[in-house]
Amino acid sequence: MPIVSAPGGPKILVTAAHPDDIEATCAGTLMLAIAQGARVRLLLATSGDKGSSDPAIDPVALAAQRESEAQNAASILGIEAVEFLRYPDGELENTRELRGHIVRAIREWQPDVVFTFDPEHALPPYLSHRDHRVIGRATLDAVYPLSRDHLSFPELISKTLTPHKVAEVWLYYSGIADSWVDISSVMDRKIDARLAHACQTPDPALLRTAWFERARIAGEAGGLPMAEAFTIIQALA
Ligand SMILES: [Zn+2]
Repeated sequence: MPIVSAPGGPKILVTAAHPDDIEATCAGTLMLAIAQGARVRLLLATSGDKGSSDPAIDPVALAAQRESEAQNAASILGIEAVEFLRYPDGELENTRELRGHIVRAIREWQPDVVFTFDPEHALPPYLSHRDHRVIGRATLDAVYPLSRDHLSFPELISKTLTPHKVAEVWLYYSGIADSWVDISSVMDRKIDARLAHACQTPDPALLRTAWFERARIAGEAGGLPMAEAFTIIQALA
């Protein structure tokens, strides 16, 4: 099984649907990349305003709390900037507007590597969250060919926004993962970042135990003690 190192960068853009998505999927690998010198920005499509079972909760207040928690988690991980697009949770669509936001982020940051959800082989099979599939699909559409082509989104070309070709995409939460990263050395800090999402964590001790087990199971497929798994695709010429 291919065991790979985290990409050293220099620049990585991560897109996700909800504030706590990356801790569950790729945060360990991002921390390793940052330790090797990569600089990481995060683009969040929604602020998770439906992420509560409390019928009395105010969705606006919930979104504000979740944005604050996402900033705290990003600080723990070493991510240098988080951008919130604030689409309604559970209602994400692969629109021109959403693709434009991602194209603009790519042309601004000029990332070598983009991380996003695998939209074609989502986990779990069949009952995957639609926001996850939508942000993954829109991100791949933005990577190829929209960000690269100067005739696509010409209104998003300026002195600070230039067409850009992303070299590699790392798809997380992928049902056909082909590459594994050993995250043993950063597992504790990955969970610390997840616990920063306090409103999503009724039982921190239980979560810590469950997440160690989850990483161990992910590692089994790659022959590692603890791992995150990816499908890695090279951008077309
Ligand atoms: Zn999610």
